[in-house]
Amino acid sequence: IHSKLPEVGTTIFTVMSQLALQHNAINLGQGFPDFNMNERLIQHVHEAMLTGQNQYTHMNGLPLLRERIANKVNQLYNATINPDTQITVTPGATYAIYTAFTTILQPGDEVIVFEPAYDSYIPNIIVNGAKPVIIPLQFPSYAIDWEEVKKKITAKTKAIIINSPHNPTGTVLSNNDLLQLQSIVNNTNIVVISDEVYEHLVYDGLQHESVLKYPELMQRSFVCFSFGKTYSCTGWKMGYCIAPEGLMSEFRKIHQYNAFSTNTPMQAGLAMMLEDATAYLSLSNSMQQKRDYLLLLMQATPFEPLACHGSFFQCYSYQHFSDENDAELAIRLTREVGVATIPASVFYTNHTDNKVLRFCFAKKEATLAEAAARLKQLF
Ligand code: PMP
Ligand code: GLN
Repeated sequence: IHSKLPEVGTTIFTVMSQLALQHNAINLGQGFPDFNMNERLIQHVHEAMLTGQNQYTHMNGLPLLRERIANKVNQLYNATINPDTQITVTPGATYAIYTAFTTILQPGDEVIVFEPAYDSYIPNIIVNGAKPVIIPLQFPSYAIDWEEVKKKITAKTKAIIINSPHNPTGTVLSNNDLLQLQSIVNNTNIVVISDEVYEHLVYDGLQHESVLKYPELMQRSFVCFSFGKTYSCTGWKMGYCIAPEGLMSEFRKIHQYNAFSTNTPMQAGLAMMLEDATAYLSLSNSMQQKRDYLLLLMQATPFEPLACHGSFFQCYSYQHFSDENDAELAIRLTREVGVATIPASVFYTNHTDNKVLRFCFAKKEATLAEAAARLKQLF
């Protein structure tokens, strides 16, 4: 066959997790919690299964779950969302993002992508015959240069994808960033895809700036969320997308012939769970403690932390003590000291190597302590 993704190999997350297993390393690479998820949610799903909620549910998502999502975003972001026409529950956020791209892209369209970027975006764009237009985030702040964005917009620009809190850097967009974006896309046909899977992982007293807080932006956006991050169950692959009715009706045409519907008992359990906001409202606090603990432990090593105010990830620079290539260093640390991380260059199309490794701190304290102790042996 003629490959639709000739340049693509196996995702780095799988590669590093396999290498970690092979070398019995502590896996701070792929982003997933190693602590137990909320038991109440498991019980809710169990109950849903036992009470017979095991067949296909509504194509757009269980009505009660959509209603509760609408209430949640209303309370958090003051957004008025119609659960019948504007929310679709999906098998994960990655699926929602892919479906959003597939909904809007025609061959030859351009999509603005900021790098470093989560690894699925660019293959999603290419598989749809469109062209990623890359804008590097400024280093080391990882801020967006909005003047550069204005320069890169052409008549072919169909979409801009943003991600805050950001993977891999842990940076968050500010109110000013969202206003800049809004003024740039105003009076254009550009669609915004906003990946907000880490909405409940924002630290240092900052607020998550959801696109849903900005009515003008919301009118042209697909906003994608993940229950996997919110309830520490990444293996469940449950998420949802919110968009204005016109965009969502087209999104649903793609969704109905792809997944068709999403796991019924999981949706029923999540709907029960959303009755109470405590779990997601306390998440930032507990995860900030983990980030802070990693920062403290790593002071015993020469790794230099870069700014992080959200997500599962803390990036570290090692440029002042080694000029080793980041991928080589990540592999060597996995093999020799038993700590797996992700080299930041994999999030750049041109493999920009700023001598940065990404560490996932969504781990038990004991896991973080053992990883830091192993790294310390090197110095
Ligand atoms: N976007 C980003 C930025 C992520 O880090 C992740 C986590 N893998 C996802 C999307 C995917 O979420 P899900 O597992 O719900 O597909
Ligand atoms: N989002 C996770 C990460 O960045 C991994 C998701 C995946 O393995 N596809 O590590």
